[in-house]
Amino acid sequence: MRILIIEDEDKLAKALRKGLEADQFLVSVARTGEDGFFLASTEPHDLIILDLMLPQRDGMEVLSALRQKGVSIPVLILTSRDTVSDRVQGLDAGADDYLVKPFAFPELLARIRAILRRGKPESGDKLRLADLEMDTAGRTVCREGKEVSLTAREFNLLEYLLRQQGTVVSREMLARDVWQETARYTPLDNVIDVHIAHLRRKIDEPFRRKLLHTVRGVGFVLREETD
Ligand code: CA
Repeated sequence: MRILIIEDEDKLAKALRKGLEADQFLVSVARTGEDGFFLASTEPHDLIILDLMLPQRDGMEVLSALRQKGVSIPVLILTSRDTVSDRVQGLDAGADDYLVKPFAFPELLARIRAILRRGKPESGDKLRLADLEMDTAGRTVCREGKEVSLTAREFNLLEYLLRQQGTVVSREMLARDVWQETARYTPLDNVIDVHIAHLRRKIDEPFRRKLLHTVRGVGFVLREETD
């Protein structure tokens, strides 16, 4: 497992490297936001530990730039900024976790392990609900054993709904997690509704059992209803 530390405080960077290496991680260190961004976008890593106050390009900028580029490596923010709005901003920008300095090393390790566990697909590459089946590796979808052809966006939308099956997801969640739209005020609701309608036409309308349901005023849910 390779971890990239983006941290300009020399002492802390060294201590982190030592601790993580002792725990069998392979560690690289970047001392500026620019170097960090470069390493994160050119070399494979399993996790990034990101400081926010950095020379050249601050951590939040690095994170947004990476997410915009489609780099989905999990990011744990490690910072002395500890207000609620700092945390919300960091998580909204696509961080997976947030730990405030000073911190206890065992806690950092526990959080790293939790993030790495989360990243693993739960049951191979197949997602399933009733007779609806998705192969996330092959990017195919079947219902009643027949292949259904979806656009890339419809596929991502369905994958998200399948992973959250049984849970009502709001349009905000879809905007953030499927469209990666973090600017909260971009009106995406119509776009989302149109994609939901297309998806429903393909995966639900030709079939007797309906799986995709609208929950008025809240959002959508993929589930098998018992009648
Ligand atoms: Ca710093």
